[in-house]
Parts: sequence; C-alpha cells; structure tokens
Amino acid sequence: MRRSVGIFGSTGSIGQNTVDLLLRQGGAEVYDVKVVTGAHNIALLAEQAKTLQADMAVTAEESLLGDLRDALSGTGIEIAAGSEALRTAAAQPLDWGMSAIVGAAGLVPTMEMAKHARTLALANKESLVCAGELLQATCAQSGCRLLPVDSEHSAIFQVMQGGTTDISRILLTASGGPFRDWTVEQMAEATLAQAVVHPNWDMGQRISIDSATMFNKALEIIEAQQLFGIGGDAIEVVVHPQSIIHSMIEYRDGSILAQMGAPDMRGAIGFALNWPERRDLPVDRLDFAALSRLDFAAPDEDRFPALRLAKQVLAAGGLSGAVFNAAKEAALDRFIDGDIGFLDMAALVEYTLSELHLEASAASSLDGLAQVLEMDGKARRTGMEWQPA
Ligand code: NAD
Ligand code: MG
Repeated sequence: MRRSVGIFGSTGSIGQNTVDLLLRQGGAEVYDVKVVTGAHNIALLAEQAKTLQADMAVTAEESLLGDLRDALSGTGIEIAAGSEALRTAAAQPLDWGMSAIVGAAGLVPTMEMAKHARTLALANKESLVCAGELLQATCAQSGCRLLPVDSEHSAIFQVMQGGTTDISRILLTASGGPFRDWTVEQMAEATLAQAVVHPNWDMGQRISIDSATMFNKALEIIEAQQLFGIGGDAIEVVVHPQSIIHSMIEYRDGSILAQMGAPDMRGAIGFALNWPERRDLPVDRLDFAALSRLDFAAPDEDRFPALRLAKQVLAAGGLSGAVFNAAKEAALDRFIDGDIGFLDMAALVEYTLSELHLEASAASSLDGLAQVLEMDGKARRTGMEWQPA
C-alpha cells in the first residue's frame, strides 16, 4: 500500500524540500500523492504535480486557474483554485499531510487536515499561534498525530523523553538573524534587501524577515508553549549564531539534552516524514573538529522587542496569539511595501496588541475558527491603520 500524502504550500521553501525528500524516497512508487498546492508559481506547481503524479493541483489564486489548466492539459491531473478548493482538498483522508502554507492563510487547510489526516506535519507555526488550543483539541478528537516541522520544535520533540513533567526549561535556540550585532540606529535604516538575507537558513521571504526582527522566534515561543504545554517562564531563548544546536531541554535534575545537525530543513521534514523510523537523509554531517566552537548569548529585548511581546501574549492568553500574528503579518506587508521602517514593525504590533487586549484575552480559539478569523481580521485592520509617530 502506498502512503497517501498531501503537500500544502508545495511550491515554497519547506514545500520544495518536502517534494525533494518524497522523490528521493521513491516518489510516486512509494507515495500516493493526492494533492500539491501553491499560489503564484504555476510552472513549479505543475511540474511538481507531474513528477509526483499527483491526483490534483490547487492554486490559491483564482485568477491563475487558466494558467494551471494550460500547464497541466492532457495530464489527467485535476485542477482547482481558491481558498474553498484548498479547504476541500485538505478535508480528505491522508496518511500524511504537510502544512507548509505561509501565514494565517494556512489556518483553514491545517484545521481540516487535523480532522481528516492520520499524521499532520506542521511547518505552519501560525496555526498554533493563532488557534493552538483548537488545533490540539481537533487532533485529540480525530486521533491525528501532530508532528512539528519547525526545526526547534522538532529538536524538542526528538529529545523529549516521555512526558513533560520533569522538564524545567526549554532552551529555544535562535541564530539572531542578519542584524544580530547591529545597533538600533542601523536597524532603523535596515532595508528589505538586508532583512531577507538569513545567515544560516535558506527560507521563504516572509520568515526570513521575521528572523531579522526575531518575530519568528517570538512566534516559536508561543508555538512551543502550545505544542508542549510548558509555561512561558520556562521557555528561554538562547542566541546561538551557528544554528547547529536546534534546541535543548533541561530536566529537573539539571541534565540538558540537545539536538544538533546541519542547518538544513530536510532534517526536520524527513524526521516528520519517516517518524517513528529514522532513514538516511541528504543532510551534511557535522564535523566537530572543523566546527571547533559554538557560541551562545542572551537575546537583546531592547533591539528585538518581539521577544518581550511574545511573553505578553502568553500572559494575556485567549486569542492574543491570533492578534499578534495578524498584526505581525500586516506589519510585514507594510515593510515589504516600503510603507513603514524596520523598527516600526514591532511598534505596530505592540500598538495592535494593546488596542485589542481586552477583547482578545477574553476570547478563546475553542469558541471556533470563525472567531479566530474575525479577530485576525480586526488585528490586520488595526495594524494597517497604525501610523508611525
Ligand atoms: P514560502 O514563502 O517559501 O512558501 C509559502 C507557500 O505557501 C508557497 O507554496 C506559496 O505558494 C503558499 N502560499 C502563499 N500565500 C498563500 C495563500 N494566501 N494561500 C495559500 N497558499 C499560499 O514559505 P516557507 O519559508 O516555506 O514557510 C512555510 C511555513 O513553514 C511558514 O509557516 C513558516 O513559518 C514555516 N517554516 C519555514 C521554515 C523554512 O525554513 N522555510 C522553517 C520553519 C518553519
Ligand atoms: Mg524555526
């Protein structure tokens, strides 16, 4: 029996790495690929659908349905477009579903996979940040196995021995991004071109900028709390520029377990694909003699206020994560458009969090996805209206 799989966001950075591993591990002979999805890159989406012999290809962009039809004509591969098509494609029984759409746009398909798939490989951390309780409850009810793909959370999952009772700290490592050693004055002038260059990881544009602001690490603090049920104070960020240690757990007896490897997302994706087995993966092996040193430092919350805001979000609870994420996405859109500066992104998010604090902290994702999406919309609008002083 071939394993049935679906890859949501297959044309992105995580998606392409996932396709690479599926092909290396036997492709269509081993995997019954039900669906691949993308947005603008129709040529790549069509090529992936053909090489994986997928049943269906879906683009999020309705205006590109014609292009997708042309690209796949004569292949017998079904095509569809738009968010409803994405939702339906995610609501089919899959042995393994990869959630790798970027942003809150991945929320609905992720939630559908949580209901219908046996295993959900979760790269879309935004789903946990916006609606972690609902996602966990959905998985618990359907029996879907949630496996983290974010490298830090995969690391924590890999070194977690049994339950979470004896854990005293989660040490979430962070590269520090391209502006790790920049002054606040330099950061104020940072350009888009400077912000998208990550020192160690090759990732999509949005998460790369989120690494420069450390909003990515902020999301990951919330993601860790949602995934592992460990309180905010027990999650500590450690700046580790080499990105060799992907994260660590400290147990009550002071013993620390770390997971290490080359900074290549195929390690974490392959782990989630092959779990509970381990297989050969095409990642570079570490040569400790060549590495010679690993560095660590405390993060600077003055230059990276995102980290401080994440703790505020954890303390406020409710739908504060949804507000945080949506405001961050609005800030990112405005920075990419050249409308606001690099440091304005955190100011915008802080403003939006305080504006919606009461409402968000009193709500819960368990009230339903509609409420989450409504809060997301409100936060986006508030963030779009914010003006720099
Ligand atoms: P990316 O920008 O490279 O790819 C995003 C994918 O989502 C593409 O397939 C794109 O077509 C699709 N997409 C974009 N907008 C969409 C929309 N509105 N509706 C539906 N589909 C849409 O992003 P990425 O770097 O691969 O990241 C994907 C997810 O994985 C994110 O949640 C990110 O935080 C997470 N993640 C990424 C990495 C990494 O190394 N890239 C590491 C850890 C976690
Ligand atoms: Mg990560």
